[in-house]
Amino acid sequence: MPHDVPLITTIVGGLVLAFLFGTIAHRLRMPPLVGYLIAGIAVGPFTPGFVADTGLAQQLAEIGVILLMFGVGLHFSLKDLMKVKSIAIPGALVQIGIATLMGIGLAWAIGWHVGQGLIFGLALSVASTVVLLTALQERHLVETKRGQIAIGWLIVEDIAMVLALVLIPALSGVLGGKGAAISTNELLITLAITLGKVAAFVAVMLIIGRRVIPWILERIAATGSRELFRLAVLAIALGFALGAAYIFGVSFALGAFFAGMILAESDLSHRAAEESLPLRDAFAVLFFVSVGMLFDPSILVREPLLVLATVFIIVVGKSIAALLIVLAFGNPLGTALTIAASLAQIGEFSFILATLGMSLDLLPDTGRDLILGGAILSILINPLLFFGLDRLKPWLQRREGRSPGVSQAPAEPDYRSWPALQSHTVLVGFGRVGHLIAGALAEQKQPFIVIENQDDVVQALRADHIPALYGNAAAPGMLEAANIASARWLLVAIPDALEAGQIIEHARKLNPGLDIAVRAHSSEEVLYLEKHGATHTVMGEREIAEGMADLVLSARGPD
Ligand code: AMP
Repeated sequence: MPHDVPLITTIVGGLVLAFLFGTIAHRLRMPPLVGYLIAGIAVGPFTPGFVADTGLAQQLAEIGVILLMFGVGLHFSLKDLMKVKSIAIPGALVQIGIATLMGIGLAWAIGWHVGQGLIFGLALSVASTVVLLTALQERHLVETKRGQIAIGWLIVEDIAMVLALVLIPALSGVLGGKGAAISTNELLITLAITLGKVAAFVAVMLIIGRRVIPWILERIAATGSRELFRLAVLAIALGFALGAAYIFGVSFALGAFFAGMILAESDLSHRAAEESLPLRDAFAVLFFVSVGMLFDPSILVREPLLVLATVFIIVVGKSIAALLIVLAFGNPLGTALTIAASLAQIGEFSFILATLGMSLDLLPDTGRDLILGGAILSILINPLLFFGLDRLKPWLQRREGRSPGVSQAPAEPDYRSWPALQSHTVLVGFGRVGHLIAGALAEQKQPFIVIENQDDVVQALRADHIPALYGNAAAPGMLEAANIASARWLLVAIPDALEAGQIIEHARKLNPGLDIAVRAHSSEEVLYLEKHGATHTVMGEREIAEGMADLVLSARGPD
């Protein structure tokens, strides 16, 4: 047994167990992240058997946070960020305030002093980047308006926490912890320096980074080396995150977010995003494992009521606060509920705050255990909230459709608007391939309906009076909504063969006589798709080859 390679055993142990428990969770129809957390508890120090290195796991998790935020930055532009600032800034600040007050209230009830309550409350107020992004990504919400508000909100929370982490040690004496009391003047100076550093960081990124990052990537892309390009993307994401933390004292996540956002302005961004995907997913898994590792399950038995109260603040208290704020800004209930659900959990920042609080004597041991217990339980509850939200969808749509005060049309479809379609074509995906198909069908006046998971695309289609459903075609209910049972054709024009396989299998069950044509990219995919019920497969590469060969052969003319 190699005992001297803790990094390897931690990565391998974490990934292998996460895989095993994740698969079991999936089999039991639970989200895989439940399995990752359990894997973490299993390799953690509080359960018998193999124990991975907690410190290392924490650092690996941090890489996950960096890559995730980089990915989010890639889908975000400065314009998007500015668009949501009027709600994200007050929203996040008011929510932090309310959650902190509730935390102080609970702390006061069990006899802690205000300083301890403040750290505890702050830790309960800030949502986890990874949990929020995983939830949004799974539901393809990152690029929707509600997703952007949630992410903007998260970024404001991030900046607020950066300030808190700098100010708490300075204020420790005043709050009743270690360290001397400082004067108001000194406090103001510290605050000004911290804010100045954040501002300087943003300015440097926008002025210098904006020129340097695309310049580097274009040079590297010109070398034609894929390997170097991948490395460049990784180096930029990680390098900027670390540099931002060392030089400007901002969080890793914020540094990576800005690096991604700047990249998004150049044409290369999509390629860059794809290059960082596999690594990002692997490290996000390690994040959940590392959270599980910190958890001491005995707190559930020692202080069940306190754990319950903590979870209540995180899941119910914070949600209601967010809900009311978003509604107060005139948003529809569906948007408010999605944002509230996204933020009803805590994670990495809470652990950092807890560790800092303990080191300054500003948080009792129980406080840390409660924060961890609250984090684990709220992360476990989070997918349930989204599940409940999906269930509420039809009701919300009916409600929002009726209310006259809602200016923005809901992105979700009104399932009942197109039951009249008969012998029609269901077209899944309206990207480079789908839009050409739709053009041809429309020209021939063939009836068809589109299923697409980008809401702006769907809105544009509807503006052109083309029936379009918003959502993932693999999700339950989507094909039914497109009246697949009476359709003649299903055309699956999305690039992901695994997802396409699920879609056609489901469609085949609903309509055994359906003609199904699917897009494929390799002979292996062709076999896979045919096995799942495709009647026709169109492989892009084969068509391109035939087209090119035809060009030559037809140009030669008769001999
Ligand atoms: P392209 O590769 O450019 O033809 O784009 C594919 C299109 O399909 C994009 O617009 C995606 O948003 C969309 N898409 C991908 N997967 C799904 C899915 N499972 N359900 C609905 N639309 C999808």
